[in-house]
Amino acid sequence: MNNVQVFDAGLKGRGLRTTKILQPGEVVFAEPSFAAVVFDRLSQQVCHNCFRRQVNLHRCAQCKFAHYCDRTCQTACWDEHKQECAAIRNIGKAPNENVRLVARVLWRVQKDTGIVSDSQLISVDLLKDHVADMPTDDLNELKSNMQKFLDYCPNTKHRTDYISHIFGMIDCNGFTLSDQRGLQAVGVALFPNLCLVNHDCWPNCTVILNHGNQSTLNSTFHSKKRIELRALGKIAENEELTVSYVDFLNVSGDRKLALKHQYHFDCTCKSCSEHSKDDLMMAAKETDGKKPSGELVKEVQMFSLECLAKIEAARTAGNFNEVVKLCQECLERQEPVLADTHLYQLRVLSVASEVLSYLRRFSEAAKYANRMVEGYAKLYHPNNAQLGMAIMRAGVTNWHAGLIETAHGLICKAYAILMVTHGATHPITRDLEAIRTQTEMELRMFKQNEDVYHSMREAALQTKPMGKMTEALRGEDNVKALTHKQ
Ligand SMILES: [Zn+2]
Ligand SMILES: [Zn+2]
Ligand SMILES: [Zn+2]
Repeated sequence: MNNVQVFDAGLKGRGLRTTKILQPGEVVFAEPSFAAVVFDRLSQQVCHNCFRRQVNLHRCAQCKFAHYCDRTCQTACWDEHKQECAAIRNIGKAPNENVRLVARVLWRVQKDTGIVSDSQLISVDLLKDHVADMPTDDLNELKSNMQKFLDYCPNTKHRTDYISHIFGMIDCNGFTLSDQRGLQAVGVALFPNLCLVNHDCWPNCTVILNHGNQSTLNSTFHSKKRIELRALGKIAENEELTVSYVDFLNVSGDRKLALKHQYHFDCTCKSCSEHSKDDLMMAAKETDGKKPSGELVKEVQMFSLECLAKIEAARTAGNFNEVVKLCQECLERQEPVLADTHLYQLRVLSVASEVLSYLRRFSEAAKYANRMVEGYAKLYHPNNAQLGMAIMRAGVTNWHAGLIETAHGLICKAYAILMVTHGATHPITRDLEAIRTQTEMELRMFKQNEDVYHSMREAALQTKPMGKMTEALRGEDNVKALTHKQ
C-alpha cells in the first residue's frame, strides 16, 4: 500500500489519493476479497472457491449446497465454508446470497476482527452503509433479510443495528464477481480498500478481477479472488483516485439518477457538471451542414424507444429473427436523422451485431459491430474496459466474416486497451494475444496468397483460440455495473 493513502475528500467523505506518480496500466493496488459468495441461481454451476464456471462440479456431501471443481478447491475453501456448512444443515436450506454474504462477513469479523491484514486500510465497521437514506421498499427488504439472517445464525453475538449496518454496507459496496474469463457475473464480494475509491464518471482508474493462476494442484498456491485497481492514464502525485460505478454510455442526467438511486449521492464530477458528451449522445445527423428538424428528431427518438422495448421483448423470448428484423427497421429510420454517436442508435447496433453473430450471419454482424465501436470510440475514455471488450468482439466478428485486415486492426487496438485495463496476465488478455498471433499470421498469408489464407482460416476455425473467442461473442451477460444490486 505504498502507492496510496486515505484522505478526507470533503463532501464525498473518505477517499484515496496517490503518494507518487503512476503510469498508465500500473497496478495501484491489488486486494483479496474479505468475503465472497456465488449467486443463488448459479450455485450449482460455479465453484464456490475459485468462482470458475465448470461442468460436473462436486457437491459438499454435508450441506449439499456448496459446489467445487475438485478436492483442492474444497479444501482451500473449508475455512470459509465451515460455519456456513453447519448453518445450512441446521435450517435445511441455504438462504439468499445477501444473507450468505453478510454471514460470511460477520464470521470473518468475529475470527479476524474487521481488519484482516496490514494492507487493509479500513475496518469493515467503518465503511458507509446508507441505511438512513434507504427508500421504504429497500428498508422492507433489509428487514426481511435481517429475519432470514437470524433464522440462519440464531446464536449470533452481534447486535441487530450492527447486522443491519453490514447489510446496508453490502448493498452499496458489494462488488460483482465475474467468472474466470470476465464474461459473466457469477457472484458478489466485499473488498474494503476498493470501497474507499470514490466515483467519477470519467475516472482515472479501473478495477478488474484477476483470479490469477489456479492450475496448480496445491491449494496453498491458489490465489484468492482478488481485484486490481489499475491506472487508466498517467496520474499525478496527491491526485484523488477514482473509478466509475456506472457505465458512461448514458447522458449525465440519467447517470446522476442511477447513482442517486443506487449509491445515494449526487454526482458532482466534471463530466456531469459540464454535461460532457451529452450533446454527442443525443445528436442529430448533420449532412452538408444541415440538420433535420427538432420535431423529426423527437419523433425518431420516440420511435427508437418503442422499438428498443420490442427488441428486448423479442430477445427475451428467444425470437432472434424477429430481433434482427426490428433492428433493421429501426436503423432505417434512425440513419438519416440520428448521429452515429446517438445512444439509441448505438443500442440497436449493439443488439443487432450480437444477435447476428449468434445466428452466424457474420458479414452483417461485422458491419454493425464496426459502426458501433466507431461510435463508442467517440464517447468512451480511450482506455475504457468496456470499449476494449467491444472492440475485441468486433475484431472476432470481422475475423469470422473473413475480413482479416479489419479484424487484425481491431484485435490490435483491443489488445492495447486491455494491456492497460486488464494487464498482461489476465486470462482475456492472454486469449487475445493468441488471437493476435493468429490474425497477424493470417494477414501476412492473405497478402501473399489468398488461396492459402482461405484454407488456413478453415483450419483455424477448428482450433482453440478462435473457439474460445466465439464464446466471447456472447455478450448478453456482460458485466457492466461495478457493484451488485438486485
Ligand atoms: Zn474451483
Ligand atoms: Zn457444506
Ligand atoms: Zn458524474
